[in-house]
Amino acid sequence: MVALPETTPRGPTTFQGGVLVARSCPVCGSSRETRVFAEASVIPESLTRFAFSSRKAPENLHHRIVECEECELLYSSPVPTREFLESAYRDASFGASEESRLASLTYGDFLRRFVRTPDRRGALDIGTGDGAFLQRLLEQGFTDVVGVEPSAAPVAVASPRVKGLIRLGPFRASEFEAGRFQLVTCFQTMEHVDDPLGLCRDAHRLLRGGGAIFLVCHNHRALSARVMGLKSPIFDIEHLQLFSPRSIRKTLERAGFTGVEVRVVVNRYPLHYWAKLAPLPASMKAAVLRWLEGSRLGRTLLAAPVGNLAAVGYKPA
Ligand SMILES: [Zn+2]
Repeated sequence: MVALPETTPRGPTTFQGGVLVARSCPVCGSSRETRVFAEASVIPESLTRFAFSSRKAPENLHHRIVECEECELLYSSPVPTREFLESAYRDASFGASEESRLASLTYGDFLRRFVRTPDRRGALDIGTGDGAFLQRLLEQGFTDVVGVEPSAAPVAVASPRVKGLIRLGPFRASEFEAGRFQLVTCFQTMEHVDDPLGLCRDAHRLLRGGGAIFLVCHNHRALSARVMGLKSPIFDIEHLQLFSPRSIRKTLERAGFTGVEVRVVVNRYPLHYWAKLAPLPASMKAAVLRWLEGSRLGRTLLAAPVGNLAAVGYKPA
């Protein structure tokens, strides 16, 4: 991490007892902060470890967010250290198996339609959660399927069919031999890691020539994000950066991928899940959720582009 100039206002210096470290743009390395997108809205007393889990109700808390004019990335600075984050994610809770399964169906469908993977020997899913997507990979004929997940809770509830394929712990590229995989996937995780470009470079090294990387991330340029502004659930204490079509493309190209394609993802979720994401007052939301979760209407599947991007790139053969 490159320190910012001393004159830069840095916001809070600690978070949940850990120090916060200033950083430059994690994609292009530029330390020229075009503009402060939002000052930190961290309220430490209200935060528990539950802040670190996937697909939970939004809390509208975030670190200080700046925008990089070089690559259109929104990124947090200062941020907690990698050690702090790894510890927080290890203990994070998980309560979203159904959403995880639904997302895996959306991504599996996307994989089948848009990612060229004639060779199916070796697939790695980084941030696999309860491994729902590993089931989709097996169904599509992939062999040597591996998932990596830093949190113990989702792995504990993984289906017996895929549990043995999941490595519990932070992703470490050094644990795998170079060129082992034909496909590396990483869904809703690029926002959470402190070095997203490093993750893509690692993926590149682990892929064989002709292999594909397939990412899904939030799009801060999506209509929903622009309309909701800072009330959008994408502005979250766990998100250390937010991508746009341009910045995710740039990330993959800098990591050495070619033939990069970026598309909008259409998610299918039950209505009660959409309500969970809506910017309603907490008391009203609790009542709406209780009603929807118990009703048939709440279980109705609704398809919509919620501002997720899929990005695919290939390692030159
Ligand atoms: Zn940048």
